[in-house]
Formats: sequence, structure tokens, C-alpha cells
Amino acid sequence: MVLIKGFEKTTLIDFPGKIAATVFLPGCNFRCPYCHNPELVLDFKKLKSISETFVLDYLEQRKKWVDGVCITGGEPTLHSDLPKFMKKIKDAGFLVKLDTNGTNPDMLEKLIAKNLVDYVAMDIKAPKYKYNDAAGVAVDISIIEKSVNVLKKSSIDYEFRTTVFPGMVDEKDMLSIAKWLLGGNAYFLQAFKPSKHIDANMKEIPMTDKDELEKLVKIAEKYIDCEVR
Ligand code: SF4
Repeated sequence: MVLIKGFEKTTLIDFPGKIAATVFLPGCNFRCPYCHNPELVLDFKKLKSISETFVLDYLEQRKKWVDGVCITGGEPTLHSDLPKFMKKIKDAGFLVKLDTNGTNPDMLEKLIAKNLVDYVAMDIKAPKYKYNDAAGVAVDISIIEKSVNVLKKSSIDYEFRTTVFPGMVDEKDMLSIAKWLLGGNAYFLQAFKPSKHIDANMKEIPMTDKDELEKLVKIAEKYIDCEVR
């Protein structure tokens, strides 16, 4: 049984084009300073657990209205029972979207090969040379590269996405990321929004400027279909 620490019954924005429910799995191997889910990453033992049965029963009752389930975190692929949980959701007739930081390319490849996932959103934290700073830990970038390649060669729907954190992704960095993602499906840029973060000082930093995001889109879209989300 997978450990679930959050459940949002309906979302119209997390699974592109679908009405979905969202399941939150705790724990993460990154410590992105701007992460807005510190409880789920650092302090999840205090959060109430939700059973798989509760989620599956709810989905069964809402079958007419819900198309799919987003599985997010934390980093969901840290949970070895994730494939079994996804199979239960698929067997119940729902689509599955996975959010990942790309640190488990082997699981990602297996989930795709076994048709357990219909859509993947993979974070690209920064250009390769800034990854450690953006993730807040030492990152073996070859693993992230492998996940990017798993998605690029897959035939499922997927997107790459970057939270544009001031000072972490400038124009030169965007060019480097866009060249890396060349040949990918879609790339979304999202603004950093000050709230509650792993690094408490982040709440003093202003939201990323919309014009800044549009400027970065112009750079990226020469290499990959890119939009602000
Ligand atoms: S933002 Fe970073 S630390 Fe937070 S859940 Fe995502 S990968 Fe983990």
C-alpha cells in the first residue's frame, strides 16, 4: 500500500484537458529552496494518512465526473508501491498523470512500458550547471538526463516544466535548458509565487514578473513548444 498524505477531490487545472482528483505522496529526495510543500517534504509524519481504499472508493463513486488521477508529491517515484497503486487506478478505469522530478528514470520507463501512466509532467529545475543549487542537494545530472530521454522517446503525452525562480533561470540559462529539451513535446514556464517554502526567506522574494516569463518563452520556443502557465 502506498503512503498517501493528501487528497484533493477535484482539479480542473492539474491534468491538461481532464477533470481529475489529486493524490499527494510524501517525501522527496530534493530540497528545492522554493518548494511550496515543505510539510509534505520535511514533516509528513505529522500529516494524517489517507488509505488507498478511501481514494479508490471515492473515485468509484465519482466515475461519471472524474476522468483521471494526478499523482504528485513530494516525489512519488520514491514509493516502491507506486506502480501497484497506479495499476489499481488504471484497472478502475481512470487515466493517470504523474508529476516527477525525474530522479527515477528506471521506474518511469517501466510505468510507461506497462501502460500505467497516461501523462507525465517532469520538472526541469534549472540548466544542468545550476541543478545542485536549484534542487538544494547534490544531483547526479545523468539521471535527470536519462529521464528526459525516456520521455522524449516515449509515445505518451508529457510536458517539461520549470518554476522560474529569480536568479536561477536567466536568459542564458533558458537557452541552455531549451537546447537540452530540443525534440521534446511541450515546455511550460511557471512563475515563482511567494508563500510558504522550504527556505523560509523565500517568502520575501517577489513573484516572477510576467514580462520576464514572456521574454524567456521567446528564447525557448525556438527549440521547443513553450508557453507560460
Ligand atoms: S519542489 Fe523540489 S523539494 Fe518540493 S516536492 Fe518538488 S522536487 Fe521535491
